[in-house]
Amino acid sequence: MTNDLHGLTALVTGGASGIGLATAQLLSERGANVAVLDLDPHGVPSPLRGLAADITDDRSVRSAVGHAADAYGGIDILVNNAGIGAAGTVADNTDEQWHQVLDVNVLGIVRITRAALPYLRVSRAASVVNLCSIAATAGLPQRALYSASKGAVLSLTLAMAADHIREGIRVNCVNPGTVDTPWVGRLLAAAADPTAERAALEARQPTGRLVTADEVAAAIAYLVSPAAGSTTGTALAVDGGMAGLRLRPAAQP
Ligand code: NAD
Repeated sequence: MTNDLHGLTALVTGGASGIGLATAQLLSERGANVAVLDLDPHGVPSPLRGLAADITDDRSVRSAVGHAADAYGGIDILVNNAGIGAAGTVADNTDEQWHQVLDVNVLGIVRITRAALPYLRVSRAASVVNLCSIAATAGLPQRALYSASKGAVLSLTLAMAADHIREGIRVNCVNPGTVDTPWVGRLLAAAADPTAERAALEARQPTGRLVTADEVAAAIAYLVSPAAGSTTGTALAVDGGMAGLRLRPAAQP
């Protein structure tokens, strides 16, 4: 499996940080040419190719997707990873915040995929992975807007998988639990008691720890691999058991 992506080209959005960067590096290690699209791709290490673009801007998206395809002679793998968060109940976020988060997390996937489709259609191993979340399938407190955006990503993934299966394009999503990335680092830093907040997030996952970005990257690398050629329209949980398990409290020592 180590060189299973040799000869394929991958485009990873939001690939300058966290899950996106771990994924871009893993796909590259497994032989793919990898272009990273991000608001600020300047720190992206070689051999990844950084492309500056904003997924809320269709012109910027089309230009970056065209650059990636020109540089490598096509696009086979698309990882729709870029996303932003929002905290609050349905009472808390303004209309502007709703428009902004849905614009990035949902329409961003639409814009990038639309621009990449002509290349994916002529690929011999076309695959799309969308970053969804445990928030799509479990009710989490203070995440009304974010959860709505990821619920839309889950449904969009299924619809895209159906629409494009006869064009040879597989579409799946990954549903992480809480992942130890700069995003979560920012959330913890803003908490009144970061240590207690981290402990609460760890305790919410049956494994008792946060997911690593590398673990999510490994799931994405599986889904985009030709080895997963019969897997489409699935949501792969990488959540420390959070979606499916109901543990009894640990016995006290
Ligand atoms: P992160 O903040 O570390 O990285 C996100 C990247 O996306 C950044 O590099 C940022 O510049 C880029 N980005 C944001 N808006 C963009 C835009 N408009 N155009 C282009 N690039 C943009 O975040 P992360 O924790 O690695 O999360 C990545 C994805 O995983 C997101 O879709 C997130 O919803 C999802 N996810 C994260 C977690 C978690 O706990 N970290 C859990 C479940 C799902």
